[in-house]
Amino acid sequence: MNSGSSSQKTALFEVSHAADTDPIAPLWQSKIQWDGKKESVTIKNLQGAKIEKESSAGDQQASIEAMLRELWDGKTAVLQSPSEISVAGHRIVHGGPKLTLPAIITPEVKQTINEVATIAPLHNRAGLRGVQVAKKLLGEIPQVAVFDTGFHRTLPLAEIVYPGPYEWYEQGIRRYGFHGINHEYCAHRVARLMRKDISSLKIISCHLGSGCSLAAIEHGESVATTMGFTPMEGLMMGTRSGSIDPGILTHLMRTGNVQSEQLDETLNHRSGLLGISGVSSDMRDVLEAIKSGNERAKLAFDIFVHRLQAGIGAMAASLNGLDALVFTAGIGENSPEVRLTACEKLGFLGVRLDEKKNSTANADICISGEDSAIPVYVIGAQEEWSIARECARIGLPNS
Ligand code: ADP
Repeated sequence: MNSGSSSQKTALFEVSHAADTDPIAPLWQSKIQWDGKKESVTIKNLQGAKIEKESSAGDQQASIEAMLRELWDGKTAVLQSPSEISVAGHRIVHGGPKLTLPAIITPEVKQTINEVATIAPLHNRAGLRGVQVAKKLLGEIPQVAVFDTGFHRTLPLAEIVYPGPYEWYEQGIRRYGFHGINHEYCAHRVARLMRKDISSLKIISCHLGSGCSLAAIEHGESVATTMGFTPMEGLMMGTRSGSIDPGILTHLMRTGNVQSEQLDETLNHRSGLLGISGVSSDMRDVLEAIKSGNERAKLAFDIFVHRLQAGIGAMAASLNGLDALVFTAGIGENSPEVRLTACEKLGFLGVRLDEKKNSTANADICISGEDSAIPVYVIGAQEEWSIARECARIGLPNS
């Protein structure tokens, strides 16, 4: 279960103990998306049965419960009963300083996730809600938490500690980094596609979805990343600003009598692609608006790419080299325009995209030209699969 603040993705996998590293197709998968007052649900199974419906948004927990029941009841059902499910796994966005490795959810683990919810309120509460729904419908089966911060446990101290007062660090105000489940998966996947040992590679992973972050990965470990204490730092995103001068915040508070809730709302929900373009938080809409001559949409795209280029440069410097560049998640997998423009300024490193390959829609392919000094890949995000693997690794009896 991959519970977000505005979406809930769920997938059912049949995984053996010795789970392979390559992703397998889920037997059943679903996505609920909440967009303001609207709720859209898509459910499909491996046999091709599909449910698609839209309604006005009501109680989110009730919708998640109804969605989960479709696993054993209804036209996409693939199970006789919920008792066939052995383990439930959850993406938990913020593990805080204590929780890094995937863990069986005990009352203590739950308590710690709850405590960390003050840092990432929307995300962690959604994760806990998933745990609650699973317990209610599936009973007392093992539940596993996989932390999006966990992969970044190897960040060096100079990357972790903010140059404010040292006490911040002692209080847990430090860089954690996010999207770790997918950055880790992408690094392993690209090494496999390149037929190289991951410990020999320097990789930059660009996770560009509604949230966006970069990770610099060396020997399979995260050594630098753009998100920080919260998932707000770094790149420009759909509705989040990414990094801005903190002086702007103190200025607004001093002159505009702005409260923390308003700042939160502005930086999280009214900034980024949406805030600049005034059109949409969705890159597809921004690209459409550019075609019809919308100048603010063009500016939004330009800022997005400018910051992405700068971020890739910083990651390459942290790595002191680069063996593979990876694009993943909604925008990374689906926008040839973003990939092409992002790579334009990497020409000095010898990065050359193959325009034909770049414009195809397939995931898990190399899109750079034969003459490219550094291979560029598109890797399909597989967060649910990665969580399922961790479930098989630590959640099954005798595992
Ligand atoms: P999340 O899981 O965080 O909701 P996704 O990884 O699904 O995010 O990415 C969602 C974003 O992907 C959308 O907001 C949209 O901007 C972008 N996206 C999806 N398809 C395309 C496309 N064909 N072209 C450009 N952007 C796309």
